[in-house]
Order: sequence, then C-alpha cells, then structure tokens
Amino acid sequence: MNSQKDRKAAILAATLSSLWTDTEPAVRERVTAIALADADAISDIFYAILLDRPDSNAFLSHTLVQERLRPSLARWIAALFTASTDEAIAAVLEQNYQVGLIHARINIPLTLVNAGMRIVKKELSTRLLAADLSRAQTASAILFVGELLDTVLDNMHEAYLGDLLGNVRHQQSLKMFMSGPNLALEGERLKSSLFDWLRNTVVSFYAHEDSNHASPPPIESSDFGLWLNHKAELTFGRVTELDLIRERTTRISAKVTAAVEGGLITPAFVKELNNDVTEIAYVLGTIIGKAMEIESGRDPLTRLLTRRFMPAIFQREVAISLRHGKPFAVLLMDADHFKTINDTLGHQAGDSVLSDMAELLHTHVRAGDFVFRYGGEEFLILLTEMDEAALRVKAEWLRQTVEEHCFHGTGGAGNGLRVTASIGAALHEGHPDYEHTVRRADAALYEAKRQGRNRVVIA
Ligand code: GH3
Ligand code: MG
Ligand code: MG
Repeated sequence: MNSQKDRKAAILAATLSSLWTDTEPAVRERVTAIALADADAISDIFYAILLDRPDSNAFLSHTLVQERLRPSLARWIAALFTASTDEAIAAVLEQNYQVGLIHARINIPLTLVNAGMRIVKKELSTRLLAADLSRAQTASAILFVGELLDTVLDNMHEAYLGDLLGNVRHQQSLKMFMSGPNLALEGERLKSSLFDWLRNTVVSFYAHEDSNHASPPPIESSDFGLWLNHKAELTFGRVTELDLIRERTTRISAKVTAAVEGGLITPAFVKELNNDVTEIAYVLGTIIGKAMEIESGRDPLTRLLTRRFMPAIFQREVAISLRHGKPFAVLLMDADHFKTINDTLGHQAGDSVLSDMAELLHTHVRAGDFVFRYGGEEFLILLTEMDEAALRVKAEWLRQTVEEHCFHGTGGAGNGLRVTASIGAALHEGHPDYEHTVRRADAALYEAKRQGRNRVVIA
C-alpha cells in the first residue's frame, strides 16, 4: 500500500539486523543488560532535562510525564535494546514510525526529539564507560548504541517528514478545491448570508421593540461568521483583508450588544449597521476577486503571469533548451523614471500606463513566449528558441515599440503620454538553474540604466 515507506523500512531493518549480528555477543549482552537495568533511571533523567527546556512546555507537563511518558520511555528503551530478531526489529521500527507520526501530529520540534535521543545516547554511553569491558569492547558497545539510536531516529523522522509533506499536499489540494469556480459561488453565498443576518437583526430589533428584550442573532454564529472563523484562512491564506473583516465583525458584534442593552436602536443606528455590513461585503468581494486572479496565475492589474509561475515554466524551458539545443532568452524591461509619472499624474494614471504597457508587450511577442509582471514597473519576457542575433533585434524592436506608443492615463490625465523603457537581456547558456540567466539579464538591465536608459544591453 505504502511502498515507499516499506522500502525505507526494509533498508533500516537490514541496518539493524546486521548491527546485531556484527556486534560481538558479549558486547551486545552487556548493552542489553545495562539498558534493561537502567531504563527507569535514564527515563527519569531524560524528562528531568527536557522539562527544563523552554521549548518543551507545549508538549510536556509534569503530570503527563509522571503518569504516562516516563514509564513508556522506559519500556521503549527496553524494547529497543532487546529487539535482535528480524521480527522484533520490524515491530520496533513500526512502533517508532507511529511515534514519528504522533510527533508530526502534535507538531513537536525535531530539535526537541533529537535532544531527547542525545540524552539516551549519553546516559547509556556513560554507563558503558564505567562497565568493566575492555577498551575495544567499550568502543564497540558505544558505537552499537549510537548506530542503533541513529537508525531509529531516522525511522521516526521519516514518518515525521512524510506526514508533514502529505499534509502540505493535502492542504494544497484543499485550497484548490476551495478556489476556482467554487470561490465565486461561495462568495455570493457569503454575501447573501451576511445580508440575511443584517435583515434578521433589524427584524429582531423591531419585533421586540416594546418588550425591550431584543435578541438579535449573533453575527458569529451566522453562516458568514462560521465561515470566517473556520474556513476563511484555509481558502485565502493569511491575508490582511481577513484581519480587517474580523475586526469589523467584532466591532459590529460589540455595537449591536451595546445598542440592545442601552436601548439605543434608532434608524441612524440601523443605517450605520448597514454601512458596516456593506463594507465587509465589499472587502470580501475584493479578496475573492484577487484570489481568483491569483489562482488563475494572472496579475490583477496587467493580467500578465505572476512570478509564482516562473519556476514551473522556466524548468520546462531549461530542459527543452538543454535537450534540443534551442536556448531561450530572458528579457527584463523596466519603465524609465516611472516614479515621475506617478508623482506628476497620480498613481491611477501610473496604473493605467502599466496595464497599457503590458498589453503592448503581450501583443508584440510570439504565441510561444511568456510575459510576466516581474515587479512593480518591471516585466520579464521569456523568449523561446532564440539566438543572439534574433534576441538583439527583438529587444530593440520592443524598446522602440514602447518609445513610439502613445499611452493614455485615466480621465484624460496623461493622454498621449510618452514613456521609455530600458531592457536587459540574456541568452540561456546551459546553466541548469534558470535564476542564473535571470540574474545576467538583471545585470544587463542595470547597465542599460547606468548608460542613460531607453536602451538595450545584452548580457
Ligand atoms: P528608473 O528609470 O531608474 O527605473 O526609475 P523609476 O522611477 O522607474 O524607478 P524606481 O524603482 O525608483 O521607482 C519605481 C516606481 O514605480 C515607484 C513605484 O511607485 C512605481 N510603481 C511600482 N509599481 C506600481 C504600480 O503597480 N502602480 C503604479 N502606479 N506605480 C507603481
Ligand atoms: Mg524598477
Ligand atoms: Mg523604473
């Protein structure tokens, strides 16, 4: 079922099995005897040290340690140092794999687990040094303990990391499930739930007007409130807009309670509530819009690809370039003195110049090329199947296209505006890491700026 896990377990089992057979019987027996005799004492020391660590607070309490963990660690030590047959080894590995899964589930830091293992190793080694073994036997015994504990630790970490990765994958598919067309639908449902709550609340205000026992439904337990507390972060990640929505929701809740208790329900209050709810619905609409853009990989302003998609696209292009000897080129274009455009015409005009420029680039590259919004006023174009001569022509042509274009700002501001851009470009030279080519293009862009802007520099 889980073949990768089984394969790794088989390797670890073979390591342990040969460790037992390759170690001199007298040494093994001595280690086992000491481990059995001192398991309780070592367990005491183990938890005494770990309980002192500030990072263990969340996982260890004195009662938990006294009642459950101490005896179970003692049993763990005893089992580990007596498991010499293949069957017993398999059982020990499986048990430790489960321990690793528990560690992952409770999110214990790996450094804490490692620290614990070091304590067991040190305590056993100290006792072996004091035992009446020859020098060679002592060395062999200490190596035996070290190898055994390291192998088991590997096994535990295997489980830990496997679980962690599985979780991440799971979270990603969950996110995918939550987004896309579902997101638009979900957004509409949430908004209507929000306004439903508002309507119910207002109705309850007036239904209880004379008895002055208005009991409006709490916003926290509305459909919207439940979504906000349980699902919102899963869908959107930790975005600041959610903090704003949460803050507004808490404020609405407090306001309603205060108004009901103080008997201050007036038409003005209802209007204020309506404004608050409308604001939340608006912010909700913007994050949903943004999330949908991000999911589709497009930048909201320019509709170009975002940096997020660079690794996937570039890795493919590097492979094609290496396999077929058809190198791609990276072209970085940065608008010149863009700050001045913002400063003189306003940020909105600046935005509109950027989306114009994006469209210009998009229509002037071939269907097989990729245009990314690389930064604020910086664009990255991946030109497929290029050589240096073609790159030079293409880059110069794009620079000229921008220079000759009449941009238009919003509302007449900046109509007929001329903008120039500097370009740095680099041809892929076979380096497996695409960032290397991007860095060369970036250095060329820097050089183009330095030489006075509105020009092309090829790396
Ligand atoms: P240089 O010729 O050296 O590139 O000068 P510059 O002014 O273009 O460069 P700088 O990096 O100093 O400033 C970039 C400006 O671009 C600053 C920032 O306000 C503006 N900018 C970045 N992203 C956006 C955006 O999305 N919209 C608008 N309107 N302006 C943006
Ligand atoms: Mg810039
Ligand atoms: Mg610039």
